[in-house]
Amino acid sequence: MFRALVFVLAGVAAFAQPENWRKPFPAHKIAGNLYYVGTEDLACFVIATPEGHILINSGLADSTPLIRESMGKLGFKLEDVKILLTMQAHFDHVAALAEIQKITGAKMYATEPDAPALEDGGKSDTALKGNRFAPIRVDRKLKDGDVIRLGGVELVTHLTPGHSKGSASYSSKVEEKGKTYKALIANMGSVVMPLAGNAAYPEIAEDFARSFEAQKAMTPDIWVAGHASQYRMQEKYKAGSFVDPQGYKEAVEEYERLFRERLARERGER
Ligand SMILES: [Zn+2]
Repeated sequence: MFRALVFVLAGVAAFAQPENWRKPFPAHKIAGNLYYVGTEDLACFVIATPEGHILINSGLADSTPLIRESMGKLGFKLEDVKILLTMQAHFDHVAALAEIQKITGAKMYATEPDAPALEDGGKSDTALKGNRFAPIRVDRKLKDGDVIRLGGVELVTHLTPGHSKGSASYSSKVEEKGKTYKALIANMGSVVMPLAGNAAYPEIAEDFARSFEAQKAMTPDIWVAGHASQYRMQEKYKAGSFVDPQGYKEAVEEYERLFRERLARERGER
């Protein structure tokens, strides 16, 4: 189940781009007003409202036509996107956001610690050097607990840093067939830079530890993540349901275990 994750991490470390980052995947409803418009592995989400839409993540720089097509298949227009968000200021999730911002005039909301890397196109990010992207104008800086409102939707920002300085998760209630579900768009805590002696991000290990505590306290019914493989998207898509509270708990615990293992190794404890 976590083989896919190891593959993704290996891909990032080598600056290679796995084939499934670009491969199209059918656009689909996750539940209620939450939709998937990403590729086979780079997850992008739309939260649709009567007053326009929220787009979370963009994938790689050439993703705009794919997102437009996916939205079209769901009956939505890219031009109706009003708010842009991301889960982490890394090129594989944000590289087309500047272009989409230009097309739609949407406002980019970003967490305070991720805003600099978004605005300088990844220049200040030490984790994925050489993977620059078009700089994105940040219109609003988000703090932990900030509520993003659009067309009756209330999306809560959860700062879950570590993977990047300002990695974020977002939660909202979604209604599906008369039932209300707690949905979480969870930034999973995969480690892509040194934990010990990281001069560019000295508080990284503390941030990760706090983020895992925060995520363990969350109890979503439905959860998704930045990489489709992280939440076994294809399996759930085939099954026709994304309700998976136990899978969330297990995934967070597994990421924390991998983090603690690596931290101990880097500190020479094992
Ligand atoms: Zn990343």
